[in-house]
Amino acid sequence: MRIIWTILLLFLGGGIAASAQTGMAQTEPDPGSKRIALTYDDAPRGDGRLFTGADRTEALLDQWDKAGTGPVAIFATTRGLDRDGRARLQAYGQAGHRIANHTDTHPWASRTSVGEFIADTDRAETLLEGLPNRRPWFRFPYLDEGGYGEDRIAARAKREALRQALSERGLRNGYVTVDTYDWHLDSLLQQALKDGRAVDEDALGRVYADMVVDAAAHYDRMAMDVLGARPAQVLLLHENDIAALATHRMVAALRRAGWTIIDPDEAYADPALQAAPDTLFSGMGRLAAIARESGRAGADDFDHWSADEAGIEARVAAEKAFGEQGRDAAP
Ligand SMILES: [Zn+2]
Repeated sequence: MRIIWTILLLFLGGGIAASAQTGMAQTEPDPGSKRIALTYDDAPRGDGRLFTGADRTEALLDQWDKAGTGPVAIFATTRGLDRDGRARLQAYGQAGHRIANHTDTHPWASRTSVGEFIADTDRAETLLEGLPNRRPWFRFPYLDEGGYGEDRIAARAKREALRQALSERGLRNGYVTVDTYDWHLDSLLQQALKDGRAVDEDALGRVYADMVVDAAAHYDRMAMDVLGARPAQVLLLHENDIAALATHRMVAALRRAGWTIIDPDEAYADPALQAAPDTLFSGMGRLAAIARESGRAGADDFDHWSADEAGIEARVAAEKAFGEQGRDAAP
């Protein structure tokens, strides 16, 4: 008897769920398609163990070109910008990529006075003058918008003062929505090369691509949960060796997962994410801040392997991306 009841309940339950779904399909607005812009911070970075700075720029330009990404955004830091560094930024701009400000010396806004921070930003703005395809976007180093301080009232005042100063300069927040620890994966690569270990480029490329695709899916779920729609996503990456090595693989994987790569111009025109969140929580990008503000997600909901050192190391180990320690490790 109990079995019959169970079957009957399952049947009824299924019927209700099915009709609810049909009803939803008729009334729910189209959440939009999965679109993502690629952005790269800290350019022009110095020599790595795999690419010199100049070779890396060439490799990246080639990869974006072959992958057909269209324009990406380059958020430049200008400290020590010499003729070669400027030539690299020039090359990115000339190829159609968007060049924007990521400060001169990459300070933490929370640990720097408003005056110093803005002077640093102004210096970068001056040094970037004359480059092609400049955009009035500003990206905070470490995504620290000044609100990290212990004293919440002072932190809020500083955050507001920085917003005001940037707005007076016509600079818009070059926010991100998809945050990954690509910098950690690159540092693992640098360490492996230093230790004389063999690098399995396919395996490493898989980790890089999986990391980006899984992070994009994570933030897509967050957007659907909090906004009920798909805003244009902005992916934060760095101008590093791993990018120069594996961008084609990463872009192909994003497309297989249903993403369209879009121009950062299009992403930053999306009205869904224009309003600056009120919360002081900014370290994981604008979507996470909106999620936090909505009260629908607790801090634990932001955990994801793509933004976790141990999680990335576990993937690298599982894929056997690096061989045994070499005998003649470089110093
Ligand atoms: Zn940076």
